[in-house]
Amino acid sequence: MDANNTVFPNRVLVVDDDSLLINEYLRCLGEDFEPDYATATMTDLESVLFGEENNENGAAKFDVHSRNQGEAAVEAVKAAIASNSPYAIVFLDIRMPPGMDGIEAAKQIRLVDPNVNIVIVTGSVSPAPENIGKQIPPADKVFFFQKPFHAMECRQLAAALCGKWHADMALRSANEDLERRVEERTAALQKLAYFDVVTRLPNQLLLLEELKALIEKAEDTEGDTVVVLIDIDRFSFINETLGYDAGTELLRSIANRLSRTFCDEMGQRMAVVGRFGADEFAILVPGIANDSEIRKLAELVRDTVEAPFLINGRDLFLKVSIGVSWHPVHGRDAKSVFRCAEAGLHRSMRSLNNSITYYHSEMRYRARYKFDLEAELREAIETGDIRAHYQPQQCTVSGELAGLEALARWTRPDGSTVPPSDFIPLSEEMGISDVIFESIMRSVCADISSWREQGDWKIPVSVNLSAHQLRNRDLVSLIKGILKSEKIDKKLINLELTETVLLEDLTIAQPVLNDLAAYGFGIHIDDFGTGYSSLSYLAQLPVQTIKIDQAFIAQLSESDVNSRVIEAIVALGKAMKLEVVAEGVETDQQYAIVRRLSCDLVQGYFIARPMPADQLLTWIEGHEDTQCIKKKSVVVDMDTQR
Ligand code: C2E
Ligand code: CA
Ligand code: CA
Repeated sequence: MDANNTVFPNRVLVVDDDSLLINEYLRCLGEDFEPDYATATMTDLESVLFGEENNENGAAKFDVHSRNQGEAAVEAVKAAIASNSPYAIVFLDIRMPPGMDGIEAAKQIRLVDPNVNIVIVTGSVSPAPENIGKQIPPADKVFFFQKPFHAMECRQLAAALCGKWHADMALRSANEDLERRVEERTAALQKLAYFDVVTRLPNQLLLLEELKALIEKAEDTEGDTVVVLIDIDRFSFINETLGYDAGTELLRSIANRLSRTFCDEMGQRMAVVGRFGADEFAILVPGIANDSEIRKLAELVRDTVEAPFLINGRDLFLKVSIGVSWHPVHGRDAKSVFRCAEAGLHRSMRSLNNSITYYHSEMRYRARYKFDLEAELREAIETGDIRAHYQPQQCTVSGELAGLEALARWTRPDGSTVPPSDFIPLSEEMGISDVIFESIMRSVCADISSWREQGDWKIPVSVNLSAHQLRNRDLVSLIKGILKSEKIDKKLINLELTETVLLEDLTIAQPVLNDLAAYGFGIHIDDFGTGYSSLSYLAQLPVQTIKIDQAFIAQLSESDVNSRVIEAIVALGKAMKLEVVAEGVETDQQYAIVRRLSCDLVQGYFIARPMPADQLLTWIEGHEDTQCIKKKSVVVDMDTQR
């Protein structure tokens, strides 16, 4: 039986140039063959072998065909295979002059039909029977038969080989069936491995394959292959507030909308749309002609996702970050192009102003740099290579050292330093910014304790907090624990947060800040003036100090506008009883202006660059007599401290 359950009859081909022998085959394999002394045992054997294939007498039925030359035999086997009625046996005379001999015919038949049993019929015993299996493999499908043969022997052999053939075919079909099922299962598994279950879009694995294929095809077409990666800003917030189901529905809607956008009216797909990560999607578009088309494409993607979605009966407006790169400009292979788009995406996610970043080569260096940096950063945290450096803040009225800002510095074993702008955002991406905060906090406390050994110390130190720390529920107890172990007065610690971090999630920030302030820490707002929302939040928060963003100070000498901004901030600060710090003061001209505008404190290279803890006391000594710093503030009366 074949895979379609067709029942094959016992088809036998007999090949001999001797027509008498052909007749003998036909007689002994014929239906009305009369067994002479054939015993019942023989008939029994046939019935066991053939079951229903036997005739009423229980004898086997054979469908016998004959040819008198090797060439014709090969053609007959070909025709049988083509019409799906293969032979079970070919009896082949070894010598059939003038045509090809039986061995050659057998070789050609084997090429056409791998299953047929070939019986070489010969009058002598040459060639050696064991060699013939090697010449016409497989050895279990080739046989020797000597003539003259006895009719009963011939019939028995035919019956046995037909039985064997049916068993072989059944096994083969079972194997084919198994193979097909394995293939089907593999395909099903591949579908699971390559498609996202929620959106049914290709996943990252398949996207990579698709991009590889597009790049290969692009070798002989015009235009670039563009990768657009999209991240939904604050998607976890949507999940938390609207619920997980709404989040899932939103992902599906985004997937559908993007898929529709990149189909023509005929439903023909014009780009590959896939799900790249949890809240990230990817669009791959081939054949883009120029930069302006790339821009249009990225803007189309942005506008598609930023148009409102109806979720739970309400309009939901999303913001997206986008990274764009293209082959062959940013990479020769799919992986590199994706990596560039990712670098662009991360830049967008960090930027406040740009939701779309087009990759450029300077970022390539950064992407590689970042990869190495991650591994190094973990090690640096372990070995304590990240410590605080300190930048003095000076009082504009008294000239005294009024405070220090602790700025994280990573010093590599070779003495080079990595700026915080490189490793703080990276630590946040890696989810280890809390560890860095903790080690800075510990290094600040240890430094204060060592300064304290030189005399009384009452200069407060500001430590920077990032958005991630605000989400750490144990923040207050963590800081308290560190202060306690070093016996540091809480009055000596201020915490700095940028205005944008605060405004990003006031509902989260407010209770944390209240806790911190209630405990006694001063709260300072960093980079003030860059947040774009109203100032009313200031009144609700327990803030002590605002630090004017460096950008206003930097342009001070050139622009009047900035001095008016500073004037306004100072007026606001005075009205709200807040201390105002001018940060990034580099020149005496800037210093003079911020002093005239009544900023309370000044911080910047004009006073001093950030320095390691062990240089600070020397620095203070050195500036004792100058108008910048008066030493007396350093020696304080411990009794006045709580
Ligand atoms: P920031 O909090 O605004 O810190 C002030 C930055 O301005 C420092 O850069 C400082 O070295 C630099 N600076 C000070 N005076 C001048 C000046 O006169 N001119 C100019 N051009 N720059 C000046 P730094 O140390 O590279 O830190 C960059 C930023 O990294 C910081 O900005 C802060 O946001 C972040 N950062 C630093 N340390 C930490 C930390 O421990 N934790 C967290 N979360 N962020 C940190
Ligand atoms: Ca700061
Ligand atoms: Ca700042």
